[in-house]
Amino acid sequence: MAYGQGSRLPGESASKLGHLAVVQSEWVKTLVTEFETTTSAETDLSGTVWTPFIPREVIPLSRVWAVDGSYVSVRSEGIPAREVAFVKTALLAVDRARLDTIDKENPHPLLLQDVLTGSAVFHATVFPLKNIRTSLGSNYNAVRHIVRDSMRIDEDGAFYETLKWLSYQKWQLEPTHSPAFNCPHCHAAIQDGLPVDADDGICWECKGTVFLTDMLGFHLDMDEASAPDSVASAYMLVMETLMLFTAIRIFWGHSDKALVSETLFIKDGPLTLRGQYSKMVPAIRAFLQFTKDQGRPVHIIGQEKSGAFCDHLGSIARFASPRTKDESMSFAVLSHEYVRREVYRSPDLENPYGMRTNWGEKLFVKLDPSTYMVLNVPTGNYVANVDFPKVPDLIGLDRILATLPSLVSRKYEGALFPVELANGIASMSSYPSARILQRFIER
Ligand SMILES: [Zn+2]
Repeated sequence: MAYGQGSRLPGESASKLGHLAVVQSEWVKTLVTEFETTTSAETDLSGTVWTPFIPREVIPLSRVWAVDGSYVSVRSEGIPAREVAFVKTALLAVDRARLDTIDKENPHPLLLQDVLTGSAVFHATVFPLKNIRTSLGSNYNAVRHIVRDSMRIDEDGAFYETLKWLSYQKWQLEPTHSPAFNCPHCHAAIQDGLPVDADDGICWECKGTVFLTDMLGFHLDMDEASAPDSVASAYMLVMETLMLFTAIRIFWGHSDKALVSETLFIKDGPLTLRGQYSKMVPAIRAFLQFTKDQGRPVHIIGQEKSGAFCDHLGSIARFASPRTKDESMSFAVLSHEYVRREVYRSPDLENPYGMRTNWGEKLFVKLDPSTYMVLNVPTGNYVANVDFPKVPDLIGLDRILATLPSLVSRKYEGALFPVELANGIASMSSYPSARILQRFIER
């Protein structure tokens, strides 16, 4: 909270910041002047290059799959407080033709039910975070086993099969070993990963059993007694990715070879995996490059709803077309150089932007005068050039852009209706109330 204005100190009437001694610095003076200048820019100073797009020249994609997740941590009363986290993810198929018949502002519940019937898949699990010890072993080992079992049990192991499919690059004629990882018992480096298709293995150093799910590295976020709720958020992100790729994997293997390229796959949030989880990124890129080379493009978008890119777009969107309902939509593909210079304002030349973590590149889209969004679209292989990516690098961009207008929600600004539906299914509101969950862990 700000202090109330005093009357003793000089300078307050002249300027909010003028009385600070540090204002003698030229740099600070300039900053203060900028801060106190209320006029906003008249033009887009970031030099964003927008390209008009005419949707009627391209055929929209006919099917849409969307994935979203949420998690909640719950603490018990009493000392020490015990804590668990519930994680829920949902994958949803939407028939775009049927979606077109629905009023996006006030969807009729029965029509909505019709669009959704039999087309949603859920996944849910629970993690011990603090002060919970099962009879089977430490919290550390409990989380390791819960990750493995949760992935293997649901949908007859379909999500787990996708983890194997990505880890061993099973779309290739000759699959590879898994990415390298560290033993969860002795932390020795298992450089060669696990051999093709293995579910588990023996650590060469301590002879302990390691699981394929240990490769993801949830244990690196934990200690023996407790886990932070970042384990829950990381698990949610990994499961969203695995669920989306389960749909992609099944379509890819389908006898109708065209099916996979007729579908739009949407992930809520950026196409990014950070920290230890980024070791899945090279495999995902390799698969998407493979689909590109085979002439069977997979159309994927991630939608960012908050963060630096949304803030930046919010500040420049009004300068871009369309400014009236009659103008066509437009888009801007962001190069690595633009992202560094205009979004992060940090010319970090040592690490090309997103090299380790991103499996999609950034894109601004403005659909009508009041609807604009930040999207991520994959390119397949990553290219470290500062002027990468360019328009042709983004996989299936034309068909993605042609599909977007029919998916725009009329309820939330800049939202996509399938994401909104997936969000409804995966959100907290469908958890039992916190009180019930609390009783559950106090038992
Ligand atoms: Zn070991």
